[in-house]
Amino acid sequence: MKNKYDTIVIGSGIGGLTTAVILSKLFKQKVLVLEQHFVSGGQTHEFSRVKDGVKFSWDVGVHYIGEMKKGLMSRNLFDYITDGNLKWNKMPHYFEKFIYPDFSFKQASNPKEFAEDLIKRFPEEEKGIRQYFKDMKIAAGWFQTHMMSQLVPVWLFKAINLFKKDSSKLALSTTKEYLDGVIEDEKLKALLTSIWGDIGVPPEESAFVMHSLVVRSYLYGGYFPVGGASSIAETMIPIIEGAGGSVLTNRNVEEIIIENNKAVGVRFKHKNETLEVFADNIVSDAGAYNTYLKLIPSNIDIPYREEIRNAMSGFSTNTLYIGLKDSPEKLGIKGANHWINTSYNHGSTFEKSGRTADILSAFVSFPSMKNPKAKSHTAEIISFSQYDSFSKWKDTKWMKRGDDYLEYKKELSAKLLDFADKYIPGLKELTVYSELSTPLTMEYFTKWEKGSFYGVPVTPARYKYKWISPKTPIRNLYLTGSDAGSLGVVGAMYGGVSSIAAIKGVRAFMKVMKEANAD
Ligand SMILES: Cc1cc2nc3c(=O)[nH]c(=O)nc-3n(C[C@H](O)[C@H](O)[C@H](O)COP(=O)(O)OP(=O)(O)OC[C@H]3O[C@@H](n4cnc5c(N)ncnc54)[C@H](O)[C@@H]3O)c2cc1C
Repeated sequence: MKNKYDTIVIGSGIGGLTTAVILSKLFKQKVLVLEQHFVSGGQTHEFSRVKDGVKFSWDVGVHYIGEMKKGLMSRNLFDYITDGNLKWNKMPHYFEKFIYPDFSFKQASNPKEFAEDLIKRFPEEEKGIRQYFKDMKIAAGWFQTHMMSQLVPVWLFKAINLFKKDSSKLALSTTKEYLDGVIEDEKLKALLTSIWGDIGVPPEESAFVMHSLVVRSYLYGGYFPVGGASSIAETMIPIIEGAGGSVLTNRNVEEIIIENNKAVGVRFKHKNETLEVFADNIVSDAGAYNTYLKLIPSNIDIPYREEIRNAMSGFSTNTLYIGLKDSPEKLGIKGANHWINTSYNHGSTFEKSGRTADILSAFVSFPSMKNPKAKSHTAEIISFSQYDSFSKWKDTKWMKRGDDYLEYKKELSAKLLDFADKYIPGLKELTVYSELSTPLTMEYFTKWEKGSFYGVPVTPARYKYKWISPKTPIRNLYLTGSDAGSLGVVGAMYGGVSSIAAIKGVRAFMKVMKEANAD
């Protein structure tokens, strides 16, 4: 490692790596990426365990990614940042199964078929369903304009939008407010918002724009990286290294060094030693909360620290990682995600998640069926959880949280497996290994406050915060990742491109998009 780089990126999630790759590839910069975890990739990393000679691997924060159909802009961008070395596997045609107390519904990888299937199931709601698809398009369009507004001068933005209809009211309604206006049937409303776990807040709180972005991203189905989620970082890091940069793990950045309101370097811990390294630009993938409240020294005036503190929620997950002795195909599973709901009221499920003894909902994913290179079979049961149900252990250390924590985890693991087995009979019998992660695990490994891995909640308020932006009030300091773009792998990747626009100007952004779409 040298003492001076062109750019230092804090954190090696998809956002950090995207910014680092583009600076390396397009601007020939030497970029240093510092990652606190012992593996790179952030939430796209994988981990493995060996049981009875069989190696099981799980993806932590990637279960499916939308918009990876060849020719779509997000796919072109992914090909660009991985030099085309990342391959994608399409999930089965029916890639989602939504399970409710008295019906289930499978989502097809085609918007027309998806809409027709909804209409077949709820014929009296045809008009509302057709309106819903149209309005999601408008809300998603609003988001593009919103992102652009952060990057171009105000006068230019106003000129561009002079003759455009303002769709902010629609985009910034809550999803529930929007649906209440066009749909009558409560079961249909629940069905349309089944993927609220992809957003991290229920329809009562989520902005309709975010709901629209996520639903639209999966209209042509779900995709999964061939070789597993770790292939994402594996195909990006060589590009950074090839340009003379480095991606180093086990480097916990403790402070951004700021002189005369200008970021000049970072101070970080490595093997009990404190080191300093300097660069022309510093980019943080650690999220707005960590960057403004922990990494920027507290004597530096940041006008919105209190607003950031108040904006964070404590919504996270308990995830049971499962090793299977045989393929889930034995149970009739074709690879679709299973969203299991015991109620039609997602708001109530959200409030109670982790706070009651019962499991109320779960998302079950079968990673080995999505990855053609998987050598053994795995599943994941994700049940959402409020952080506060674990707060009594929050000051304990990883692997030393005490016997009562281990006992609690054991009970919870059994409950989760029983719950999933009720809807996917035979899953328990197939299970030979399991391991539970909790919101505390998530907080420890990703550094997201209270394990809130999606960053700042996607309520309508999020779109009004000045600090959800790649730009910061400190010169030469930028954000990347989900808090500079949007949540999810693709959203955080766009956060990476937005930070390029903030650093190098809008023309650079256009250049990236032009190069990505060139082939
Ligand atoms: C259970 C779960 C399921 C998910 N499922 C999906 C899915 O199916 N599809 C999808 O698109 N998205 C999914 N996501 C969300 C998606 O993974 C994330 O939104 C996205 O990867 C975030 O990328 P990022 O770059 O913003 O941040 P991260 O990936 O969180 O990266 C931030 C990095 O910064 C590092 N860091 C933080 N502080 C410091 C510091 N002080 N010093 C050095 N390094 C630091 C962290 O260790 C981390 O590696 C899921 C997430 C989870 C947790």
